[in-house]
Amino acid sequence: MDSGGEMVKDCIFCKIVKGDIPSDKVYEDEKILVFHDIEPEAPVHVLVIPKTHISSLNDVQEDNSEVISYIFEKIPEIANKLGVDKSGYRIVSNCGEDAMQTVEHIHFHLLAKRSLKWPPG
Ligand code: AMP
Ligand code: ZN
Repeated sequence: MDSGGEMVKDCIFCKIVKGDIPSDKVYEDEKILVFHDIEPEAPVHVLVIPKTHISSLNDVQEDNSEVISYIFEKIPEIANKLGVDKSGYRIVSNCGEDAMQTVEHIHFHLLAKRSLKWPPG
């Protein structure tokens, strides 16, 4: 299982972390990376990812969850930086086939700057 590995060879988001694939970065530190989604579904649509490879929410466990809580500590700061903290935003993590997860490196979509429907599609 590749739940807590540093880097997965054929993973597109690991390649983005490494710099092998370019991305439009919003925020970066030693643990996480935030970049604009290539196919935005809202006027503001960024992806928040851990630099370490975790495949999905199903693979979050005691020994790798620190970065997940760190992501949620950082989200208010990222939302503020994007100017959406006051107007509001939605965090989504698609897990598995029914949720239409397409990239198997855990990521949190931050969607904002339009009125988002509920329930989602
Ligand atoms: P999901 O479908 O929830 O797994 O989300 C994957 C997201 O990654 C989609 O919204 C894609 O548009 C986005 N995506 C895929 N490749 C790239 C890339 N190279 N740069 C930025 N976003 C990407
Ligand atoms: Zn990865």
